[in-house]
Formats: sequence, structure tokens, C-alpha cells
Amino acid sequence: MEKIKLAFDNSYARELPGCYVHWQPQPVPEPSLLFFGEELARELGLDPAAVDEATLASTFSGNQLPEGATPIAQAYAGHQFGNFSPQLGDGRALLIGELVDRHGRRRDLAFKGSGPTPFARRGDGKAALGPMLREVLIGEAMHALGIPTTRALAVVATGEPVFRDRYLPGAVLTRVAASHLRVGTFEYFAARGDHEQLRRLADYAIARHYPELADADERHLGLLRAVTRRQAALVAQWMGVGFIHGVMNTDNTSIAGETIDYGPCAFMEAYEPATAFSSIDRFNRYAYENQPRMVHWNLARLAEALLPLLADDQQRAVDLAGEAINAFPDEYRRCWLASMRAKLGLNAGTAEQEGSDVVLVEEWLSLLQRQRVDFTLAWRRLADAAEGQVQRLRALFAEPQALDDWLAKWQSRCAAQAGASLPASPAAAQAARAQAMRGVNPWIIARNHRVEEALAAASDDGDLAPFERLLAALAQPYREDPALAAFAEPAPAAFTAAYRTFCGT
Ligand code: AMP
Ligand code: MG
Repeated sequence: MEKIKLAFDNSYARELPGCYVHWQPQPVPEPSLLFFGEELARELGLDPAAVDEATLASTFSGNQLPEGATPIAQAYAGHQFGNFSPQLGDGRALLIGELVDRHGRRRDLAFKGSGPTPFARRGDGKAALGPMLREVLIGEAMHALGIPTTRALAVVATGEPVFRDRYLPGAVLTRVAASHLRVGTFEYFAARGDHEQLRRLADYAIARHYPELADADERHLGLLRAVTRRQAALVAQWMGVGFIHGVMNTDNTSIAGETIDYGPCAFMEAYEPATAFSSIDRFNRYAYENQPRMVHWNLARLAEALLPLLADDQQRAVDLAGEAINAFPDEYRRCWLASMRAKLGLNAGTAEQEGSDVVLVEEWLSLLQRQRVDFTLAWRRLADAAEGQVQRLRALFAEPQALDDWLAKWQSRCAAQAGASLPASPAAAQAARAQAMRGVNPWIIARNHRVEEALAAASDDGDLAPFERLLAALAQPYREDPALAAFAEPAPAAFTAAYRTFCGT
């Protein structure tokens, strides 16, 4: 079988010896290709039409690596649910290599489920098919929503069962990321007091993700500030679509600011800020409403890890780090308000309007919460209301009259803004607003019952059709195609009440 050719340029392996171990994927008995992201492949310089399926399956199972691959298991530590583990690392993952894509962006190509590495501890190094397809579905949903995320390139069934609570079909996922640098990567070297390696790592992160800082005076402080900004923007986007990551440990917090490691994640249905689905998150640490605080906490761990690089004087280092981290709440609030304004159809707002706009959002959200209204559909139907069609919005509420005062307030706020940049006639202005709102308020999210249905069919019956239909629907979340109406429907309330997600191990 011919080897796939990819133009690898493996900077991490080259520049950061000591941050990983060389390792090989474990061969799999019977690779069969279940998913392949053709558009992403082309972006990476791999023409899917030029490669047969058997070659893709043997390549993306790890049986036959592409030329130029340098498989390595990366070292990292991490705070998991608040507790520090000094040595986690890629227990079942391997970085295969890096590619510079068609847009000039450097991307990691990595396997998950490719066999145990020296970091595996007691784990088997394998992955079950269901959780890997889950990562495809949710990651692609996030991508289509315009939220920074790692993406799935391939899923290959291995033909080998893996034992969890029972035997399940095994699979290898190939994932593409801006990088796999995590807060936990820095914690690993900081905890060992290896400041030289820490500095090399920080300079590598700067060169790769924040090159504008390379020549700055206080570049490591700049790195901390920049990661803080990106994470604030990312979590604000999560909050805007009701995404609940579920396991926001510091080893799952990306330095590049992408959503990474889809395990027990899920989208919120009816609006309830306390929503948490993960079975292992016993104290609901990573509930929807806690996410901004939790990422702030993770950034404080990054700040601690970077302390030795910030200043020779320890007190000064602590002061600088504190200042950088304390910028998070304002930065997050700014991103959140911008996102909420866009969702409300307000494309601008003055500083004076800030306070009243926050109240407008909070009142809307408390209406949704009190009447247990579906978060996604409520925003989507508000776009109809912007055009004067309030019926479908009202239909979502058990007591729609409770909505009237708020609607009047919102409409007058909208009217106050119409003028300067919007079309002249009121009807045209309303249509433009509704259209803009439909571009930021999705109609389709990855509904939990649809995800579970698709994964059960694939994992239990070998039937990929529901997975493929759902994946296609998730690719166009902002388009209201009546043929996809089933995917827009909320799960039955009883399903959501009993819903638990599991870590993808
Ligand atoms: P995660 O919950 O996927 O972010 O993983 C947390 C840590 O557990 C990482 O160090 C993983 O490599 C490791 N891990 C998770 N599942 C397995 C497994 N089945 N075998 C070996 N290591 C694993
Ligand atoms: Mg992880």
C-alpha cells in the first residue's frame, strides 16, 4: 500500500526536546474508515480523491503512518477538578506531526485512542467508537457555529473491542488543532522547577500563536495577557450558544484559545444557568454558569506557572501576574455583552447604554429560566419578532403575556438604534435586523437526544446513517431548512432531566 504524502514540518518535536517522548501507535487488526473530513483534508493539502479508502483507513488508524510523521506523546500536567496531577500527558494520544495549511496556519495532526504510551498510567490507551464520533459531531457543530475549535479529520474503527462498562467497538480519532499546548503543559515544567524548559516552551507558544509579542519587552507577561483575552472571548462564545464543556481542567484549556477535548460536553436545552450534565462532575464545578469563573481560575494557574519568567523579583512577578489575571472579568464581560447585543439584534451600543443593555439581557434570560424555555429556539424566534412576527416566540412560553413588557422595552431599544447605519424604511431596518440575528442565533445545535441516538446506532448496530444525517444538519446551523426540522426540536424534558454524559475514556 502506498504511503500518504503530507508536507510535515514538526516544530514541536524539533524545538522542544524534553517536552515529549517518541512513541509509535499500536497497530490495529481491521481498520475501516467511518468518517473523513474531506474539506478539512483539502485545507491541509491532502486531496481525498487521490487516495483510496483502504489507504486512508490504514493511515488514520496508525497502521501505516504518512511519510515525515514524527509520532510523539506530549508531557503535560493539570489541575483536574481543582486538584493538581503533576504528570498526565498523552496517555492515549499521539502528535503525529504538524502541517502548514492552505491559509498558512500551522496545525497539529494528532491521534486519540492509538494505544498506551508511557503516560498511560493504568489506562488502556484506547478509545471507544461512540466518544470519538461524539467529538466529531460536537467539534464540527462548534466549527459551523464559528467558535474556535479543534476539528476531526478522521475516525477509523479498529476492529478491536475495548472494555469499558462492557465491550464496545474501538476507534482511532485523528484530530487537527492549532496546537496541543495547554495550561497544563506549562504547569508540568513549572512544577518541576525546570525554568529553562518553561522559557523555551513559552517562547515557542509566542512564536506559534502570538508572534506579534516575540520582540515585546515583557513578552511572557504579554503571553499571559493574550491567552487571557482569547479564553475570555472563547468562553463568551460558549455561553452565547449554551455550550457546556463539562471538563474544563487545566489540561483541557488550550493556549491557542480553541475548544479542545470533547468529553462529557453538551448543549443546554431549556435555559437554566445551573445546568450540568457530566456524571463525573459531582459538585457541578463546570456547570454552565460557572464556566467564566472556571476559566479564570485556570488562567490563574497559568499565571502561577509563568511566574519565574515574569520578573526576577518574586513580588513584582506576583503583582504583574495578578494584574494580568484581574483583567479577565472585564474582558469576559465585554465579550459577553458584545455577543448578547448581537444576539438581540443590536449592532452597536454606547458606553451609556451598557448598564441598561445588561439589564435587558438579564431580564430576557430570567424570563427564559422562569418558564423553562428552550435557549436556542427562544433566541431564534426573537429574530422573527424583530420582523413583527411574535407568534412563534410567544408559543415557546407557557405564559406569553409575561413577555410583553420586555418585548416592548427591547423594541424601543432597537428603534433607538435604527437610524444612522441601517436602511431608511422601518420595514427594511426590521428585515435587516432579523437577518443579522439569524446569522448569530443558530436554529440547529447538537441536541443531546439526537447525538445519543446517532452514537447508539453507530456503536450498537454499526449503522452510521443517523450520524451522517446529524452531521450534515450541524454543518448549517444558521439556515432554516424545513427538511431538517427534526434536528431543531428540543429533547423531551424528561430526557434532559435524566441526561448524564460520560468522560470519553
Ligand atoms: P481527558 O479526560 O481525555 O482529558 O484525559 C485526562 C488524562 O487521562 C490524559 O492524560 C489522558 O491521556 C488520560 N487518559 C484518558 N483516557 C485514557 C485511556 N483510555 N488510556 C490511557 N490514558 C488515558
Ligand atoms: Mg484532556
